[in-house]
Amino acid sequence: MTAPRQVVVLGSTGSIGLSTLSLFEEAAAPVEILALTAGRNVERLIEQARRWRPRVAVIDDESKLQTLKDGLAGTGVRAAAGAAAVAEAAAMGADWVMSAIVGAAGLAPTLAAARTGAVIALANKESLVCAGPALLAIAKAAGGSVIPVDSEHSAIFQVLQPDCAHRVARLILTASGGPFRTWDRAAMAAATPEQAIAHPNWSMGAKISVDSATMMNKGLEMIEASYLFDTPETRIDVVIHPQSVIHSLVEYADGSTLAQLGPPDMRAPIACAFAWPDRLVWPAPRLDLAAYGQLTFESPDLDRFPALGIAREAMRLGGGAPTAMNAANEVAVAAFLDRRIGFLDIAAAVAETLERMNSLGNLAVAERDAVDDAMMIDASARRIAAEVVAQKHRRL
Ligand code: NAD
Ligand code: MG
Repeated sequence: MTAPRQVVVLGSTGSIGLSTLSLFEEAAAPVEILALTAGRNVERLIEQARRWRPRVAVIDDESKLQTLKDGLAGTGVRAAAGAAAVAEAAAMGADWVMSAIVGAAGLAPTLAAARTGAVIALANKESLVCAGPALLAIAKAAGGSVIPVDSEHSAIFQVLQPDCAHRVARLILTASGGPFRTWDRAAMAAATPEQAIAHPNWSMGAKISVDSATMMNKGLEMIEASYLFDTPETRIDVVIHPQSVIHSLVEYADGSTLAQLGPPDMRAPIACAFAWPDRLVWPAPRLDLAAYGQLTFESPDLDRFPALGIAREAMRLGGGAPTAMNAANEVAVAAFLDRRIGFLDIAAAVAETLERMNSLGNLAVAERDAVDDAMMIDASARRIAAEVVAQKHRRL
């Protein structure tokens, strides 16, 4: 018998974290969990740690350390708290690390895991958008790898023929179109957080659900694809596919297009990232195409979903523009969820922040200090975005 794989799950209490643990359970996967980490949800972390018995359970919110310790008393699971402890857990030397923290907060722990040469199953797209080239270079130099978990990128990863990468004509990302696909601008202007979070096909965390509603999620994913697959913006397209069955496609120079399909269930791309290049044997939901009857496609409407254009502009600007865009989006989405700005203000605030950062000449990244530069750009974009959001809030 081979030894169990040692794994760390960063963000274990979130939607992807839950799917990861559910997959381990359903597949009876031979894993030894070294660490589980969470942001604030200490009750769920305690429950998970009691079930999975990691060596350590880490809560980012230090005020919850005592609750965590009390909840784990007698289990032998060590309790720790704070951002440094999350990064330490990421660097415990696991074979496989699930990176599923939401937002740029995931960057430091993902980098810490990358430096150990682990296989990183990357759900946390914001870390890639924030400092993609540096993160990928660090993982490669340490002898590790980054396997995408985002369903679109997992699809492309699975159908991309490594020997033929130079013959790729286009990467085509599919998008569900989110809950407001058929809404007009006036209705979108009045959309509430509850409406934005009600995604038609996927049950996800609040932030990515809002990103799906603005389609900034697809904007972030275009940038993610450009870094992961070293592909310029001009060769990345988006098509709306409301059923979320085709997860993405690769078009080759000879006109042949390869797609990956499956029911919308995040455990499928997680299983792929866990077993790659093998395939995990587990009771996966199967695709019944006849039950769908038809699959439909349409072009995205850039007027109602300006985030797609903003992301393209960020890619054209290059350097720290994607970093700034991502940071501004995190600030704007938090303000929307807090009911301080309207739904359409999200993309407007991101565009305005990016413009201000660019006109201030604040987007340069030096290759040598790429991570430090990204963190500085992230911080200054957050400051500017907070000002922009405050102005919009006053006007509401
Ligand atoms: P979520 O909000 O459900 O979970 C986020 C997790 O991160 C939770 O465990 C939370 O406690 C933890 N966390 C939050 N802030 C933290 C901080 N500052 N420090 C440490 N931990 C923190 O989000 P999710 O839907 O699971 O998404 C996670 C990531 O995966 C995101 O980057 C998202 O874009 C990506 N993703 C999610 C899906 C999906 O279906 N949910 C699909 C593709 C990609
Ligand atoms: Mg996705």
